[in-house]
Amino acid sequence: MPDSPEKQPKAVVIGAGFGGIAAALRLRARGYHVTLIDKQDKLGGRAYQYERKTDLGTFIHDAGPTVITAKFLFDELFELFGKKREDYVEFRDIYPWYRIVFAGEVTKPRLAATPASRSNATGETSTDAGVPAKQQALPFFDYGGTLEQFEAQIAKFEPRDVEGFRKYLKHSKKIFDVGFTELGDQPVHSFLTMLKCAPSLLRLQNYKTVYGMAKKYIRNEQLRRVFSFQPLLVGGNPFNTTSIYSLIFYLEREWGVQFAMGGTGAIVRGLEKLMREEGIEIRLGEEVETLGTTPNANINAPYDALTRVSLRGGDSIDLTSDPHAVVVCNADAPFVYKHLLDPQLRHGVAARRIDSKVAPQQYSMGLFVMYFGTKTSYPDVAHHTIVLGQQYKELIDDLFDRFGLETNDTSVYLHRPTATDPSMAPPGCDSFYVLVPVPNNQPMKSNRRRKGATAVEPTLRPDGSIDWDVMGPIMRDATVKYLERTTLPRLSETIIDDFYVTPDHFEKNLNTLHGSGFSIQPIFSQSAWFRFHNKAPGVEGLYFVGAGTHPGAGMPGVLCSAKVLEHALPPAPNRAHK
Ligand SMILES: Cc1cc2nc3c(=O)[nH]c(=O)nc-3n(C[C@H](O)[C@H](O)[C@H](O)COP(=O)(O)OP(=O)(O)OC[C@H]3O[C@@H](n4cnc5c(N)ncnc54)[C@H](O)[C@@H]3O)c2cc1C
Repeated sequence: MPDSPEKQPKAVVIGAGFGGIAAALRLRARGYHVTLIDKQDKLGGRAYQYERKTDLGTFIHDAGPTVITAKFLFDELFELFGKKREDYVEFRDIYPWYRIVFAGEVTKPRLAATPASRSNATGETSTDAGVPAKQQALPFFDYGGTLEQFEAQIAKFEPRDVEGFRKYLKHSKKIFDVGFTELGDQPVHSFLTMLKCAPSLLRLQNYKTVYGMAKKYIRNEQLRRVFSFQPLLVGGNPFNTTSIYSLIFYLEREWGVQFAMGGTGAIVRGLEKLMREEGIEIRLGEEVETLGTTPNANINAPYDALTRVSLRGGDSIDLTSDPHAVVVCNADAPFVYKHLLDPQLRHGVAARRIDSKVAPQQYSMGLFVMYFGTKTSYPDVAHHTIVLGQQYKELIDDLFDRFGLETNDTSVYLHRPTATDPSMAPPGCDSFYVLVPVPNNQPMKSNRRRKGATAVEPTLRPDGSIDWDVMGPIMRDATVKYLERTTLPRLSETIIDDFYVTPDHFEKNLNTLHGSGFSIQPIFSQSAWFRFHNKAPGVEGLYFVGAGTHPGAGMPGVLCSAKVLEHALPPAPNRAHK
């Protein structure tokens, strides 16, 4: 039988994103009395779920993550308590994993023949300009499935690349074996650990970038994009992200891609039920303001010790009475170092780079995400669609290095959950979100514009960052036009109940420094030992999980970061929970 809560050592988890939820469960299984605190009114962090009531019925929108890979990482959380994930939430395999559409030309997918659809006598749909749209599909690549399915898609573009793809796959597997299997859930707190892996990483050419690796094996430019866009999913630039991130490709191959019925929000609800069953205390709508510390009295331990978790509004949790108390921050690690902790406590390579002028942290791009319903259905649109604009490198330069907000030729991710789960919208309707990568809230880096840029000039705030109060509505209209032109004909007529978030939401509501979508970028100099450590150096009992920490962003990354705690943290003394 577990000890009474008073006897269990305290664990306070700050932030209820997937990293925080997984940490709370893993600590509970280790015998801690866990309190999980989040400033939002619901659990999930970026995996928040919106429920929108309209005259037509209810539309459900997952706010963020939707593509489930490495599903075993979720299963494990239930297994910790002898339970089965299937009893809480259903995962369904999907195909294609993504449809990648090349938007150099104009596509007009077929609208469903519902009353709201306005097909003309010849069965052609019409655009908002009243121009009949031919069923002229843009080139697309259905990504995913069996090897045969992959190879058939590759052959559509360049048959000679099938051979290169097989070599790429072998290389990706080797990177996966080191990067995911060996390093993914291991602490990398010492430079020595990193050095031990260096020979294998060098042998695997991790000094190459993800795009460089695709280029090595694949000759067709469109296919190179297909096999190199993955870092964008975790906030990286394919042209400078270390090729270790090519392991994402193998990760998807190993476990496939799933969708949770009811949306990612259903996973969060399943995990919430589990946490409540296991006695985890959940405090929502409460924000941690500071973490109190004091120099450790024990001269043999050159650490500061945590004393208190102080909440906005005056409440606090005292830690001094419990020598085994731990605090796990799932709030964005750079934010915690900048705003919650005394600046004197910035030990460790990543923490020292906060505010550094010499080697500042590089943050991932920002995101403009628009959620909307449609009065009609778009059955030809896949569950996950990635629309790649004509200019690929140029867009990425805009996001990371240039002055840009090009809305006419961009790349977007379009989510249509109703392709798999029609219950997420009223009958005959679709639920959507579109994610447009944009610069984060840092001042624009340069004055250079993309050659041939056609978009409106962004309005800037006094600090040189994009003014989203002005640009938000402009971006909304431009995005509707872009989708109308590439994937969702007549969207401006069918759209209903749209709303959007900008980098301001990430900065102000989710407490992410500079409003970046995925915390710090996954470049080599910010990975493994260079990333925020899962065990904070110099502060006893302080740990970190989540996108800014090792191993990185994305659901598999943050779930693994919580797994690292199992190696970094002792079980609660003599008190296994079950
Ligand atoms: C639009 C979008 C789409 C994505 N799609 C995918 C996808 O398909 N697949 C995938 O694997 N990944 C995807 N990702 C990435 C993935 O969602 C994230 O990397 C991951 O969910 C981040 O989890 P986290 O544990 O770092 O916490 P977060 O989700 O960032 O949550 C942190 C929590 O901390 C709370 N918090 C912060 N400060 C405080 C404080 N002081 N006090 C109390 N609470 C605080 C915040 O309110 C928040 O709830 C996507 C991300 C976005 C934004």
